[in-house]
Amino acid sequence: MADTKYIFVTGGVVSSLGKGIISASLGKLLQARGYSATIQKFDPYINVDPGTLNPYEHGECYVTIDGHEADLDLGHYERFLNVPTTRANNITTGRIYQSVIEKERKGDYLGKTVQVVPHITDEIKRNVKLLGSKYKFDFVITEIGGTVGDIESLPFIESVRQLKWELGKNCMCVHLTYVPYIAAAKEYKTKPTQHSVKQLQELGIQPDILVLRTERMLSADLLRKVALFCNVAEEAVVQSVDVPTIYEVPLVLQKQKMDETVLRKMGLEVGPKPEMKAWNDFLQRKVAATETVKIGLVGKYVELQDAYKSIDESLLQAAIYNDRKLELHMIHSEKITEANVAELLSGMDGLVIAPGFGQRGIEGKFVSIKYARENNIPTLGICLGMQCMVIEYARNVLGLENANSTEMDVYTPYKVIDLMEEQKNVTNMGGSMRLGAYDCTLKKGSKAYKAYKKENIQERHRHRFEFNSQYRDQFEAAGMKCTGENPETNLVEIMEIPDLNWFVGVQFHPEYSSTVVSPNPLFVSFVKAAIDNKK
Ligand code: GLN
Repeated sequence: MADTKYIFVTGGVVSSLGKGIISASLGKLLQARGYSATIQKFDPYINVDPGTLNPYEHGECYVTIDGHEADLDLGHYERFLNVPTTRANNITTGRIYQSVIEKERKGDYLGKTVQVVPHITDEIKRNVKLLGSKYKFDFVITEIGGTVGDIESLPFIESVRQLKWELGKNCMCVHLTYVPYIAAAKEYKTKPTQHSVKQLQELGIQPDILVLRTERMLSADLLRKVALFCNVAEEAVVQSVDVPTIYEVPLVLQKQKMDETVLRKMGLEVGPKPEMKAWNDFLQRKVAATETVKIGLVGKYVELQDAYKSIDESLLQAAIYNDRKLELHMIHSEKITEANVAELLSGMDGLVIAPGFGQRGIEGKFVSIKYARENNIPTLGICLGMQCMVIEYARNVLGLENANSTEMDVYTPYKVIDLMEEQKNVTNMGGSMRLGAYDCTLKKGSKAYKAYKKENIQERHRHRFEFNSQYRDQFEAAGMKCTGENPETNLVEIMEIPDLNWFVGVQFHPEYSSTVVSPNPLFVSFVKAAIDNKK
């Protein structure tokens, strides 16, 4: 394709409408037609990246292959498109200002007064176009975080206005709104949508496509009314009704020919409707699965819907590829004790010990791991989860009393998990962990090797602490083996107990690389072991 096409996705009325899912679904439909597509998220907050935000503020922190701590929507983009994102796919206000201020200090602005318009907007536009010019994508879809009218998102909206003007047919805006149902009047109301479009128009942007989020199907009359009031063509008003799984959303949009409307508006040929075989097969398997697999996720943020997003999605994908319905039980690690552990965990076919930071809830993780180990329940420990497996083994099998990670106890007599060498002088908290994809060599014959079916893998990391290699021989002699290590640094990446059915701890985060058409092998293997355990 000669010119990259730019699509902006904005939101109105309320937040949490699922702009990320709409963006990912549209990207999927364009990709299915043979175009290369990437999706980018602009977050209007001042933090340079979400790495320093806790899960109560911002849900899960996603990590890209190039080691950027990113918004969780990038996880959706990857799960839908099956194409890795990079730091160029997530930009915050903080990062924009940081780079403008750096340029100002270097004298790049040649004595000019540096202003929101044009300097901040130019920097925003440069970051949008970078994905087209440098990475040569056919379509760049840019999701603007927040809701139209927010003070914070104004510079982003202004940049969209400028780009629509500059790029003409090569640029369009999809606006997502909400149509509430008023039970007392028994009616759906379009007024909030009309107001939100007006607000966008006041800022100089005429949306090209409207996506109306709704709980139940809207009538053709109502859609026509919205088209009339909002200056949008009738076929460009699309509804996105609640569906049982987010992975059905591309099909909901495809049925309403949203992708065709995009292509036509951008002057591209509309070819035959793509088949999307792998995607549809996945959905069919999901519907066909009747038997369940019960997985318990032990963590301290279980009451938050988005804190373990990628793990939840990876488990769902792995269950479907094992032809099972996922029954996921979120178990609060702070509430697990020696007294209730059997009651809480005995019904689980498999357990995931969640990643995390800090002391809170850690004792419950040790109790869960001990129970799982002694009762041979298939268990996957991720990052802190793996570190907890190591600590539990040290304390209860090796007899190293009060063994710990120096993250939890700097004075522990047995530092089985300790700060990595390169972390010892780190004082700046932002973006300074061991981040991104690293190589890992697997030991032949191990559970991990059997899952990945190859010797060399790459997975993403986000941690400061590591297994302390001084203890490696002691662990191995007792029966907990290192089955994956980094080939350059020899950092321990995987610990497992081969004598158990499936007991694997990984220092990396396999959940970041699991997608709909390419589920992560470790999750698939873990869920299979959980199913076998049930039998
Ligand atoms: N807190 C641990 C570390 O920094 C584990 C981090 C994680 O689970 N992502 O090493």
